[in-house]
Amino acid sequence: MSARTLENYTAQKWVKGDGGLVDIRCAVSGQTVAHTSSQGLDFKKMADYARTVGGPALRAMTIHERAYMVKDLALALSERKEELYALNPHSGATRRDGWVDIEGGNMTLFSASSKARRELPDDYLILDGPPEQISKTGSWMGQHVYTSLQGLALHINAYNFPVWGMLEKLGPTLIAGVPAIVKPATSTSYLCEHAVRIMVESGILPDGALQLIVGRTGDLFDHLTGQDIVSFTGSAATAYKLRSHPTVMANSVRFVAEQDSLNACVLGPDAGPETPEFDLFIKEIISEMTTKAGQKCTAIRRIFVPANLMDAAQEALIARLAKIKVGKPDADGVRMGALVSLSQRQDVRDKVEILSSQAKIVFGDTSYVDAFEANDNDGAFLSPVLLRCDDPWAATKIHSVEAFGPVATLMPYKDLSDAVALCNEGLGSLVMSLFTHDPQVAKTVLQGAGSFHGRIAMINRDNFKESTGHGSPLPVLVHGGPGRAGGGEEMGGVRAVKHYMQRTAIQGTPELIAGATNVWMKGAQITQDGAHPFRFNFGDIKIGKTLNTKSRQISLADIEHFAEFSGDNFYAHMDEVAAKANPFFPGRVAHGYLLLSFAAGLFVDPAPGPVLANYGLDNLRFLTPVSPGDSIAVKLTAKSRKKRNDEYGEVRWDVEITNQSGELVATYDLLTMNAIEP
Ligand code: NAP
Repeated sequence: MSARTLENYTAQKWVKGDGGLVDIRCAVSGQTVAHTSSQGLDFKKMADYARTVGGPALRAMTIHERAYMVKDLALALSERKEELYALNPHSGATRRDGWVDIEGGNMTLFSASSKARRELPDDYLILDGPPEQISKTGSWMGQHVYTSLQGLALHINAYNFPVWGMLEKLGPTLIAGVPAIVKPATSTSYLCEHAVRIMVESGILPDGALQLIVGRTGDLFDHLTGQDIVSFTGSAATAYKLRSHPTVMANSVRFVAEQDSLNACVLGPDAGPETPEFDLFIKEIISEMTTKAGQKCTAIRRIFVPANLMDAAQEALIARLAKIKVGKPDADGVRMGALVSLSQRQDVRDKVEILSSQAKIVFGDTSYVDAFEANDNDGAFLSPVLLRCDDPWAATKIHSVEAFGPVATLMPYKDLSDAVALCNEGLGSLVMSLFTHDPQVAKTVLQGAGSFHGRIAMINRDNFKESTGHGSPLPVLVHGGPGRAGGGEEMGGVRAVKHYMQRTAIQGTPELIAGATNVWMKGAQITQDGAHPFRFNFGDIKIGKTLNTKSRQISLADIEHFAEFSGDNFYAHMDEVAAKANPFFPGRVAHGYLLLSFAAGLFVDPAPGPVLANYGLDNLRFLTPVSPGDSIAVKLTAKSRKKRNDEYGEVRWDVEITNQSGELVATYDLLTMNAIEP
C-alpha cells in the first residue's frame, strides 16, 4: 500500500486536513502506510450538521426502518470485506485477528438489526415495563417510554479493533435514531476510514447520519450538549481527561467509558490436572495471550490457580507458549503478529518492567523475539511473556497495571473466597472466566465477584466446544464493567439501543397515554363496531378494536371431560374434599387451561383469514376460580402491533376473562401473527 492521506467525512464531503499531517506506520515493516490530519475542520459545523440534518432524517424513520438500514450496511461491508482484510496486516494482525475485527464487527450490525426488529416496535418510541396504576379509578396512570436523543453520538475508539470498535457502537446508535461522529484511534484509522468509505459509498445512510474525524477532535467537546453522548473506548487516563472536560460536566453530557481492565481467569478448586477443565483453562489462556498479540481489552491479565497447582499450571503454560510462532501476520503458520506500533511495544516493555518488580518472568524476553519472515527492529514484534507471582496480596502492581500486549501473570489462591477476593482486587473488570464443573463453585464466585465484573464466563467440558471463550464480547450480551473498567455498558441486545435514548415517565389518562404511545391502555377508548377483529389485515387493525363475546357456562361434565381428555386429574378439579381443604378453592374448580381453551372457543373467528397463527401468551394470570355452574365471557382488545417482515406482523391482544358477576377470572396478552396483505 502506498502511503495515502486519509480523509475526514464531514457534511457529506471527504476532506483532508489542511496541514499537521501525522504519519501512520505499518506495525510490521515500520514504513509509512498513511498520513492523517483533521486540522482545519469546522467541528462546530459538523456537530450542527449531525443535529440538524442527520438526527431529523433518522428520527423520521421507524425503529424497524433504521434496523433494516443497519442490516443493509452490514451486507455492503460483507461484499467488500476483502478490501479491509488487505489493510489488516499493516496493523500487525493475523487474518484470524482480522476476522474478529472485520467480520466480528459486521456480526454486531446483523445482530443489532435482527434483535431490534424482533424485540422492538416498528415505531418511534419504546415502552419500558408495564403501565403503573397510580390512582383509585385508573384515570391517572403512568408509563415509562424511551425516545431518541436529539443530539449526536461521538464515538471515540481504541486502536485495537478499528472496525469492530466502530460498528458495535454504530449499529445501536443508528437504530436509536441518533447520528454518529466517529473518531478512530490514529494508529489504525486507515481501516476505520475505509470501512466508513464503504458505508458511505453504499448510499444507504441518510445525510448527516455518519461523519468521520481522522485526527484530533479540535474544539468539538466545547460544542457538546445535554442531548449528546460520548461513547469512549481507550485508556483510563484519556477517559478521565475527557469525562472531566468542563462542557461535558456543565451540560451533563452522557459519557460511556470502556477502559483498562485487569481481567482474571480462575481455575476452580475442582479442576486439577487430571480433569478436562485444566487443559481447557491452559488452552484458553494461551489463546487470550496471543490473539491480537494480547491487545484486547478483555484479554486475561491475571491467572489464579489453587496454590498446590502453581507448578503444574506454569509448566503447562510454558510448554504451549514455546510453540507460538511470532512473525509476519500473513506468513504461513504464524500464530501471533506484531503489536500496533513501536511505541505501543515500548509501553508494554515499560509495563512489564513494573510488573516484574513484584513478579518473576518465567517465559519470554521483552528485549528480543525471533520474528518469522520479519525483524523485530522495524516491526513491533514481542514475545509472549508469562510472569509468576507467589504472593498476590503483596503485589499491588499486578492488580493495577495493564500491559496491553501478550502478557499475563500466574498467581496462587488459598481457597475459593481468596480467589474471589483476588479477582475483585482488579477493582472492576470487563470479564472474568472460571473453569469449573461444580455448580456450587459457580454460585460462590457469582455471589462474590458478580458486582465487580461486567461478564463472567463459566467454562467446562460440557460447553467448551460451543463456548465463545473468555475474551469475546457478544452483541447479545452486555460489554462493560464497573470501576477501573470505566463503569460503562455497551451491546447486550436492545439494551444498547436504549443507551442512546432518554427514558421518560409519562403520566396522564389511559386515553392520552394510548394516543401518545400508540399502545392501547386499560381504560382507554375502545371500538366495537364493524367486522370481527380477526377479519382485519395487519395494517388495518386499529388499536382499541374490541370484541365482547357471549358467555358460556361451565359444567362438572366439562371439567371431567377435560380431565380425561388432557390427562390432568389434579385433585383441585377431581376431588371435592381435597379441593375444599385447599385455601385457594371453594371446592372442585375448572382447569386454568380449560378456561383458556373455552376463551379461544368464544373469541376465535374460524374461517381462513388474515390471522395466520397463535404465537403465544404473555403475562398470564388466573385470578378467580371458576366452579361448575359458573359462566365466563371474554373481552379481546387490540393493544399494539409490531411488523415482523413484509408478509406478516405481530398483534398483541389484551384478553380479559370474566365470570357472571363481572369478576376477573384470568387476564393475559395473546399474540397473533397477522398477514400484511389479504
Ligand atoms: P487511548 O490512548 O486512550 O486512545 C483512545 C482514543 O482516544 C483514541 O481514539 C485516541 O485518539 C483518543 N484520544 C486520546 N486523547 C484524546 C483527546 N484529548 N481528545 C479526544 N480524543 C482523544 O487508548 P488506545 O491506546 O487507543 O487503546 C489502548 C487502551 O484502550 C488500553 O488501555 C485498553 O485497555 C483500552 N481498551 C479498552 C477497551 C474496552 O472495551 N474496555 C477496548 C479496547 C481498548 P488518538 O489515537 O488520535 O490519540
